[in-house]
Amino acid sequence: MGEVIRLTRVSRSFPAVRALSEVSLQVGRSEYVAIVGPSGSGKSTLLHTLGLLDRPTSGSYELDGIETTTLSDRARTRLRGERIGFVFQSFHLLPHRSVAENVMLAEVYGSFSRKGRRERALAVLDQVGMGHRVEFLPGTLSGGERQRTAIARALLGGPSLLLCDEPTGNLDTGNTAAVLDLFDGLREQGLTILVITHDDEVSARAERRLRIVDGLLYEDS
Ligand code: ADP
Ligand code: MG
Repeated sequence: MGEVIRLTRVSRSFPAVRALSEVSLQVGRSEYVAIVGPSGSGKSTLLHTLGLLDRPTSGSYELDGIETTTLSDRARTRLRGERIGFVFQSFHLLPHRSVAENVMLAEVYGSFSRKGRRERALAVLDQVGMGHRVEFLPGTLSGGERQRTAIARALLGGPSLLLCDEPTGNLDTGNTAAVLDLFDGLREQGLTILVITHDDEVSARAERRLRIVDGLLYEDS
Protein backbone atom coordinates (compact mmCIF):
# COMPACT_ATOMS: atom_id res chain seq x y z
CA MET A 1 0.00 0.00 0.00
CA GLY A 2 1.15 3.52 -0.76
CA GLU A 3 0.80 6.64 1.35
CA VAL A 4 -2.26 7.55 3.37
CA ILE A 5 -1.77 11.21 2.45
CA ARG A 6 -0.30 12.46 -0.79
CA LEU A 7 -0.60 16.18 -1.39
CA THR A 8 0.93 17.47 -4.59
CA ARG A 9 1.34 21.23 -4.97
CA VAL A 10 -1.85 22.04 -3.16
CA SER A 11 -2.81 25.70 -2.97
CA ARG A 12 -5.81 27.28 -1.30
CA SER A 13 -6.56 30.89 -2.07
CA PHE A 14 -9.07 33.17 -0.44
CA PRO A 15 -9.86 36.56 -1.99
CA ALA A 16 -7.31 38.38 0.14
CA VAL A 17 -4.80 35.68 0.98
CA ARG A 18 -3.18 32.49 -0.22
CA ALA A 19 -3.57 30.29 2.84
CA LEU A 20 -1.71 27.30 1.33
CA SER A 21 0.98 27.74 -1.26
CA GLU A 22 1.95 24.72 -3.39
CA VAL A 23 2.08 22.37 -0.43
CA SER A 24 3.40 18.87 -1.13
CA LEU A 25 3.34 16.21 1.55
CA GLN A 26 3.41 12.45 1.81
CA VAL A 27 2.51 10.63 4.99
CA GLY A 28 2.64 6.86 5.29
CA ARG A 29 0.67 4.39 7.36
CA SER A 30 1.36 4.49 11.13
CA GLU A 31 3.22 7.76 10.94
CA TYR A 32 2.74 10.36 13.68
CA VAL A 33 3.28 13.86 12.31
CA ALA A 34 3.16 17.12 14.28
CA ILE A 35 2.50 20.45 12.58
CA VAL A 36 3.54 23.70 14.18
CA GLY A 37 3.30 27.28 12.98
CA PRO A 38 2.24 30.76 14.07
CA SER A 39 -1.34 31.99 14.09
CA GLY A 40 -2.65 32.67 10.59
CA SER A 41 0.01 30.51 8.91
CA GLY A 42 -2.46 28.06 7.35
CA LYS A 43 -2.66 25.21 9.89
CA SER A 44 -6.44 25.05 10.04
CA THR A 45 -6.73 25.39 6.29
CA LEU A 46 -4.34 22.46 5.89
CA LEU A 47 -6.29 20.38 8.40
CA HIS A 48 -9.61 21.19 6.72
CA THR A 49 -8.14 20.29 3.35
CA LEU A 50 -6.80 16.98 4.64
CA GLY A 51 -10.15 16.33 6.32
CA LEU A 52 -12.07 16.93 3.09
CA LEU A 53 -13.89 19.85 4.70
CA ASP A 54 -12.34 22.24 2.21
CA ARG A 55 -11.22 21.87 -1.39
CA PRO A 56 -7.88 23.06 -2.73
CA THR A 57 -7.94 25.81 -5.33
CA SER A 58 -5.36 23.80 -7.24
CA GLY A 59 -3.23 20.70 -6.84
CA SER A 60 -3.95 17.09 -6.00
CA TYR A 61 -4.88 15.34 -2.78
CA GLU A 62 -4.88 11.55 -2.73
CA LEU A 63 -6.22 9.87 0.40
CA ASP A 64 -5.42 6.15 0.59
CA GLY A 65 -4.67 6.36 -3.13
CA ILE A 66 -8.02 7.97 -4.00
CA GLU A 67 -7.86 11.30 -5.80
CA THR A 68 -10.26 13.46 -3.80
CA THR A 69 -10.23 16.80 -5.60
CA THR A 70 -12.43 15.58 -8.44
CA LEU A 71 -14.99 13.77 -6.27
CA SER A 72 -18.53 15.09 -5.75
CA ASP A 73 -19.39 16.64 -2.38
CA ARG A 74 -21.42 13.57 -1.58
CA ALA A 75 -18.56 11.19 -2.32
CA ARG A 76 -16.19 13.34 -0.27
CA THR A 77 -18.56 13.35 2.70
CA ARG A 78 -18.80 9.60 2.53
CA LEU A 79 -15.04 9.15 2.24
CA ARG A 80 -14.57 11.49 5.21
CA GLY A 81 -17.07 9.52 7.30
CA GLU A 82 -15.36 6.25 6.52
CA ARG A 83 -11.67 7.09 6.60
CA ILE A 84 -11.09 10.20 8.71
CA GLY A 85 -11.49 10.87 12.41
CA PHE A 86 -11.30 14.35 13.94
CA VAL A 87 -10.21 15.37 17.42
CA PHE A 88 -10.50 18.98 18.57
CA GLN A 89 -9.25 20.99 21.51
CA SER A 90 -12.74 21.56 22.87
CA PHE A 91 -14.02 17.96 22.60
CA HIS A 92 -17.39 18.87 20.98
CA LEU A 93 -19.44 16.38 22.97
CA LEU A 94 -23.21 16.74 23.22
CA PRO A 95 -23.93 17.55 26.87
CA HIS A 96 -27.25 15.72 27.15
CA ARG A 97 -26.08 12.50 25.53
CA SER A 98 -24.23 9.75 27.31
CA VAL A 99 -20.65 8.83 26.48
CA ALA A 100 -21.87 5.82 24.48
CA GLU A 101 -24.44 7.90 22.56
CA ASN A 102 -21.88 10.58 21.75
CA VAL A 103 -19.65 7.93 20.20
CA MET A 104 -22.49 6.24 18.31
CA LEU A 105 -23.43 9.54 16.65
CA ALA A 106 -20.17 9.39 14.70
CA GLU A 107 -21.65 6.71 12.46
CA VAL A 108 -24.48 8.86 11.21
CA TYR A 109 -22.31 9.87 8.22
CA GLY A 110 -20.78 7.26 5.97
CA SER A 111 -22.38 3.99 4.99
CA PHE A 112 -22.55 2.17 8.29
CA SER A 113 -25.28 -0.20 9.26
CA ARG A 114 -27.24 0.60 12.40
CA LYS A 115 -26.88 -2.99 13.45
CA GLY A 116 -24.12 -3.47 15.98
CA ARG A 117 -23.57 0.26 16.39
CA ARG A 118 -23.69 0.20 20.16
CA GLU A 119 -21.33 -2.78 20.30
CA ARG A 120 -18.87 -0.97 18.04
CA ALA A 121 -19.12 2.13 20.24
CA LEU A 122 -18.44 0.08 23.36
CA ALA A 123 -15.45 -1.56 21.68
CA VAL A 124 -13.76 1.78 20.86
CA LEU A 125 -14.58 3.08 24.35
CA ASP A 126 -12.81 0.04 25.77
CA GLN A 127 -9.90 0.75 23.46
CA VAL A 128 -9.42 4.24 24.97
CA GLY A 129 -9.95 3.08 28.55
CA MET A 130 -13.46 4.51 28.92
CA GLY A 131 -15.37 1.26 29.22
CA HIS A 132 -16.35 2.09 32.81
CA ARG A 133 -17.98 5.41 31.91
CA VAL A 134 -20.29 4.58 29.02
CA GLU A 135 -23.51 5.82 30.67
CA PHE A 136 -21.99 9.01 32.12
CA LEU A 137 -22.85 12.46 30.79
CA PRO A 138 -19.88 14.52 29.50
CA GLY A 139 -20.36 17.14 32.24
CA THR A 140 -19.52 14.58 34.91
CA LEU A 141 -16.19 13.60 33.30
CA SER A 142 -12.70 15.03 33.70
CA GLY A 143 -11.10 16.82 30.75
CA GLY A 144 -8.94 13.80 30.00
CA GLU A 145 -11.97 11.51 30.02
CA ARG A 146 -13.85 13.85 27.71
CA GLN A 147 -10.98 13.89 25.26
CA ARG A 148 -10.71 10.10 25.38
CA THR A 149 -14.45 9.96 24.61
CA ALA A 150 -13.89 12.29 21.65
CA ILE A 151 -11.03 10.08 20.48
CA ALA A 152 -13.26 7.01 20.74
CA ARG A 153 -15.84 8.83 18.62
CA ALA A 154 -13.12 9.57 16.05
CA LEU A 155 -12.11 5.90 16.00
CA LEU A 156 -15.56 4.55 15.31
CA GLY A 157 -15.70 3.21 11.79
CA GLY A 158 -12.00 2.36 11.79
CA PRO A 159 -10.52 5.43 10.06
CA SER A 160 -7.09 5.33 8.45
CA LEU A 161 -6.31 8.93 9.39
CA LEU A 162 -6.76 10.80 12.66
CA LEU A 163 -6.61 14.61 12.35
CA CYS A 164 -6.15 16.49 15.61
CA ASP A 165 -6.31 20.25 16.21
CA GLU A 166 -4.62 21.11 19.52
CA PRO A 167 -5.90 17.88 21.13
CA THR A 168 -4.19 18.58 24.46
CA GLY A 169 -4.92 22.33 24.56
CA ASN A 170 -7.40 21.92 27.41
CA LEU A 171 -5.58 19.17 29.30
CA ASP A 172 -3.19 19.19 32.22
CA THR A 173 0.19 17.41 32.07
CA GLY A 174 -1.09 14.08 33.35
CA ASN A 175 -3.98 13.89 30.92
CA THR A 176 -1.76 15.07 28.07
CA ALA A 177 0.60 12.18 28.79
CA ALA A 178 -2.34 9.75 28.81
CA VAL A 179 -3.56 10.99 25.42
CA LEU A 180 -0.05 10.74 23.96
CA ASP A 181 0.27 7.17 25.25
CA LEU A 182 -3.06 6.41 23.62
CA PHE A 183 -1.81 7.85 20.31
CA ASP A 184 1.27 5.61 20.51
CA GLY A 185 -0.98 2.57 20.93
CA LEU A 186 -3.19 3.59 18.00
CA ARG A 187 -0.19 4.01 15.75
CA GLU A 188 0.97 0.53 16.60
CA GLN A 189 -2.39 -0.64 15.30
CA GLY A 190 -1.75 1.07 11.98
CA LEU A 191 -3.46 4.43 12.39
CA THR A 192 -1.86 7.53 10.84
CA ILE A 193 -2.00 10.56 13.15
CA LEU A 194 -1.52 14.19 12.22
CA VAL A 195 -1.56 16.74 15.04
CA ILE A 196 -1.57 20.52 15.02
CA THR A 197 -0.03 21.64 18.28
CA HIS A 198 1.67 24.41 20.21
CA ASP A 199 2.62 21.94 22.92
CA ASP A 200 6.29 20.94 22.89
CA GLU A 201 5.48 17.73 24.71
CA VAL A 202 3.16 16.72 21.89
CA SER A 203 5.49 17.60 19.02
CA ALA A 204 8.49 16.04 20.78
CA ARG A 205 6.73 12.67 20.70
CA ALA A 206 6.19 12.84 16.94
CA GLU A 207 8.75 11.21 14.68
CA ARG A 208 8.19 13.93 12.13
CA ARG A 209 7.68 17.64 12.63
CA LEU A 210 6.43 20.01 9.97
CA ARG A 211 6.42 23.78 10.18
CA ILE A 212 4.05 25.98 8.28
CA VAL A 213 4.78 29.66 7.70
CA ASP A 214 2.71 31.90 5.42
CA GLY A 215 1.15 28.89 3.70
CA LEU A 216 4.50 27.23 2.99
CA LEU A 217 5.24 23.86 4.53
CA TYR A 218 8.71 22.90 5.73
CA GLU A 219 10.04 19.64 7.11
CA ASP A 220 11.73 20.30 10.49
CA SER A 221 14.89 18.33 11.08
P1 ADP B 1 -4.00 29.10 11.36
O1 ADP B 1 -4.92 27.96 11.62
O2 ADP B 1 -2.57 28.69 11.20
O3 ADP B 1 -4.14 30.18 12.39
P2 ADP B 1 -5.70 29.55 9.03
O4 ADP B 1 -5.53 28.35 8.19
O5 ADP B 1 -6.94 29.62 9.87
O6 ADP B 1 -4.40 29.76 9.95
O7 ADP B 1 -5.67 30.84 8.11
C1 ADP B 1 -4.63 31.07 7.17
C2 ADP B 1 -4.93 32.37 6.41
O8 ADP B 1 -6.08 32.19 5.60
C3 ADP B 1 -5.24 33.54 7.32
O9 ADP B 1 -4.71 34.71 6.72
C4 ADP B 1 -6.75 33.58 7.34
O10 ADP B 1 -7.22 34.88 7.58
C5 ADP B 1 -7.10 33.11 5.94
N1 ADP B 1 -8.40 32.40 5.90
C6 ADP B 1 -8.67 31.20 6.49
N2 ADP B 1 -9.94 30.84 6.24
C7 ADP B 1 -10.49 31.83 5.49
C8 ADP B 1 -11.79 32.03 4.90
N3 ADP B 1 -12.75 31.14 5.03
N4 ADP B 1 -11.98 33.17 4.19
C9 ADP B 1 -11.00 34.06 4.03
N5 ADP B 1 -9.76 33.93 4.55
C10 ADP B 1 -9.50 32.83 5.27
MG1 MG C 1 -6.22 27.65 13.25
